[in-house]
Amino acid sequence: MAQQKTFDIGIIGGGPGGYVAAIKAAQLGMRVALVDRRTSLGGTCLNVGCIPSKALLSSSEHYFFIKHHGTEHGIQCSDISLNLETMMKRKTRVVEKLNQGVAQLMKHNKVEVFTGEGFIEKKGCIIVHREEEKNVSFNTDRIVLATGSVPAELPMLSFDGEQIIDSTDALSLTSIPEKLIVIGGGPIGLELGSVWSRLGAEVHVIEIMPDILPGWDRQICRGLRKSLSRQGLSFLLETNVTSVHKAPDGVTLETTGKDGKRSTIEGSVVLVAAGRKPYCPTPIIESLQLERNSRGSLSVNSRFMTSVDQVYALGDLIPGPMLAHKAEEEGVALAEQLRGKAGRVNYDAVPGVVYTAPEAAAVGKSEEQLEEEGVPYNRGTFSYRANGRALAAGTAEGFVKVLAHKKTDRILGVHILGEGASVMISEAVTVIEFGGSAEDIGRTVHAHPTLPEMIKEAALGAYEKSIHGM
Ligand code: FAD
Repeated sequence: MAQQKTFDIGIIGGGPGGYVAAIKAAQLGMRVALVDRRTSLGGTCLNVGCIPSKALLSSSEHYFFIKHHGTEHGIQCSDISLNLETMMKRKTRVVEKLNQGVAQLMKHNKVEVFTGEGFIEKKGCIIVHREEEKNVSFNTDRIVLATGSVPAELPMLSFDGEQIIDSTDALSLTSIPEKLIVIGGGPIGLELGSVWSRLGAEVHVIEIMPDILPGWDRQICRGLRKSLSRQGLSFLLETNVTSVHKAPDGVTLETTGKDGKRSTIEGSVVLVAAGRKPYCPTPIIESLQLERNSRGSLSVNSRFMTSVDQVYALGDLIPGPMLAHKAEEEGVALAEQLRGKAGRVNYDAVPGVVYTAPEAAAVGKSEEQLEEEGVPYNRGTFSYRANGRALAAGTAEGFVKVLAHKKTDRILGVHILGEGASVMISEAVTVIEFGGSAEDIGRTVHAHPTLPEMIKEAALGAYEKSIHGM
């Protein structure tokens, strides 16, 4: 009988947390095995999350631009039509290209990949259940759980894949729904709502909280909601779904608003985007007796170790923002720590982005948080309307806000609503990471004409006075 293979690290879950941990651990000289039940690596992010959603956001933005804004630029187009099948095929090609890229990275770094459902027979031994081949098991000194998250279902609104759908279904619709109801005004609901609205669906977003993007800077939430409303999306805030009636031609939701007023809304399709929940197969939890918190996340210490010695967890499965870049950083930090290095993640400098048009991006504290914590701060803002590049591009909507400590001038938070926010936020993340000040940004040369000049101007406004602002 062939001897069972032995690895230094066995990782279950090949998403951005798991596969990045695998690469880093291999680069640091460890023998690494990576298990994923998907044949295509990259997890939620690459297969049914970040990447396919951005492919559709880009395609739908082009369509919307040509249809509604081309003439402003002197571009006359007639007979504009949409081929949804082609748009979806392009999205699939983008995903497949990146899937292949991750597979190549595994080969290049000599990470051994096992395709199948990973289980833990006993501490130090992973068994992989494979569909068409015999199960295989291997020994590993340490186990890393990176099994991610899944869409959260709401009571009364079980996913049926057709009328009541999750984000994965919403990335692959074969026709444009006449009326799409999105439950949840978070990043995923707004991005997917934008895609289908741009392609022609009537989109209504229901949010139980007082505004979209709960937890974000209030000025950003208000600004983005107004902008999306102008694009045709409608918002029902402080509204709760109380009952659901499904019929062959659509779904009727009964809702209760802030004042207790009951009403009904009908839709052809309901997208439930009310958050995601951490996922770890029950047999793994039970076999190791892993401790979880009330939200279902695995409890870990500052070194990513679960309640069981030599079993680690990261990414969406543990507390913190459910974001691909957070998972990746944890993967790197864990691999480094396991090699005796000082790997760490600065959770105060994890940016959040909503890839709508305009985009929203933020890092650090919001004004509301600073006020609540009693931290004295200065604020500098700068409008896209005063930025040459934004005006030239025809995207002069939004603002940049820089929050700096009143006494030390250290940057505490940066919030951006507008074109290019996802790219611009990186400058703010870097400055926060280096403990920089508003003056540091204000005295840094920024190329002209560019959108990041607005970060400089807002920073100048926070510690002195902006040059081009009033
Ligand atoms: P996952 O990516 O969920 O990977 C977990 C992997 O584990 C999966 O491949 C799964 O198949 C595998 N697995 C689970 N159990 C087992 C088992 N027992 N055996 C074998 N394999 C198993 N984040 C961003 O930062 N930016 C974005 O723009 C963004 N957009 C998003 C858009 C959508 C529509 C969605 C749904 C998510 C988006 N996210 C975004 C979130 C991002 O996808 C997640 O935060 C990220 O994928 C989490 O990484 P992870 O490695 O923890 O888990």
